[in-house]
Amino acid sequence: MQQTIAILGAGFGGLRAAMLLGKALRRHKLTDWRVALVDRNDYHTYAPLLYEVSATPEEVATYFDLKSIVTFPLRQVLGGLAVELVCDTVSGLDLPHGKVALASGSSLDYDYLIIALGAEARYYGIAGLQEAALGLKTFDDAMRIRDAIWLSSCAVKKLIIVIGGGGSTGVELAGELQPWLNEITRAGRCSTGITLLHAGASVLSGFPQRVVEKVAARLGGLKVKILTNERIVAVESGAHAVRLESGMQIPFDILIWTAGVKPNSILGKLPVQYESNGRLAVAEDLSLLADGGTRLHGKVYGVGDAVYVGSTSGDQAVPMTARSAIAQASLAARNVIADIQGKPSIAYKPRNYPYIIPVGGKYAVAKIGPLVVAGFPAWLFKGGVELGYLLAILPPLHALRVWFKGIKLFTLNDRLG
Ligand SMILES: Cc1cc2nc3c(=O)[nH]c(=O)nc-3n(C[C@H](O)[C@H](O)[C@H](O)COP(=O)(O)OP(=O)(O)OC[C@H]3O[C@@H](n4cnc5c(N)ncnc54)[C@H](O)[C@@H]3O)c2cc1C
Repeated sequence: MQQTIAILGAGFGGLRAAMLLGKALRRHKLTDWRVALVDRNDYHTYAPLLYEVSATPEEVATYFDLKSIVTFPLRQVLGGLAVELVCDTVSGLDLPHGKVALASGSSLDYDYLIIALGAEARYYGIAGLQEAALGLKTFDDAMRIRDAIWLSSCAVKKLIIVIGGGGSTGVELAGELQPWLNEITRAGRCSTGITLLHAGASVLSGFPQRVVEKVAARLGGLKVKILTNERIVAVESGAHAVRLESGMQIPFDILIWTAGVKPNSILGKLPVQYESNGRLAVAEDLSLLADGGTRLHGKVYGVGDAVYVGSTSGDQAVPMTARSAIAQASLAARNVIADIQGKPSIAYKPRNYPYIIPVGGKYAVAKIGPLVVAGFPAWLFKGGVELGYLLAILPPLHALRVWFKGIKLFTLNDRLG
């Protein structure tokens, strides 16, 4: 009987853990072990390109063109590795007995578990919001936004898009959509406008001031209207308007909500410890901490957006980024192998990774260590990061083909030159 290392979620964290474990089992000749990777989709999504997808109309790229540069079939990515793909939805977890319930009705028993189920939108109980708003988490979400814009632009005289949330998702989305809307206006389909609502005093709360200033200036130049210190308190779906704390009402044709995230709801009521925002608490080795009195079966690790890890300064969480998810997954995979071999675990050390905020066209703001770089060089850096990631998950020629196709499509779609 083989023993099982189960990994839940094939996003940035889960996929990296599966690839590393698949290789490690072979390298260490651990033939008594198997890796089972569970995801509701049979593909992996490269989320950082979803903004471009939502702003690329059908006349530039078809659904299939876009899907081929942003999503990657898991069987192809895992080809040749000792990883079994279970394409199913996780519907429940029984951590004391080591069982994962699946929506198909079957279940998966495990000896080690890595939870990498990511996060989902948080609506803070705002009346009418969930029903009225589009989100941006998946490839299908991005297609829904692009289709809604195209259809509405034929149906209304003035197309108004309201984006709730001026964090990185909100500003990047506004920056990508605005040039397309400007073109729709120039072509005479309808007049257009984006309003970006943010509850804080400036967009990108918590980011360094130099980054905030450059991003805000770019958005202003693109003619995105930014309203700060404004919080949505209700959505009047009949009137197609958001009501703000200040009493103001803003009408919309399309409402997009990017302001809140919470861990995957499947992880909500487990017999483990949580931090105050509902993310899973983990020990230094990234293993989950059982609630007092509960004994978890085997060893359970958590990585990525679903877990809370203190940052280098210790007073904040490590940001929810692909880079952090990958780093945590690599460590969890090493610790699983170390545990199987009876070796000590390694502690996770958070780091400040570089980040890049694209803001429309060939423009981005990158923070690399103490350096803030803005404009075309930062956009090039973003392209380099994308290529690096593709090379890590696909054979080199395939990775290059996908990367060039993406560059070609998005350059064709770039109305800013
Ligand atoms: C639009 C957008 C742009 C972003 N841009 C950047 C960026 O430029 N740089 C950056 O570092 N980060 C970026 N991020 C954040 C980054 O994508 C996340 O931090 C990262 O994906 C977290 O990795 P994860 O493995 O925890 O979760 P995810 O990558 O979200 O993976 C979760 C996986 O679990 C699967 N899943 C969920 N529920 C179930 C279930 N019940 N059953 C089975 N499978 C399930 C999902 O299908 C998914 O494959 C972006 C995010 C978004 C939404």
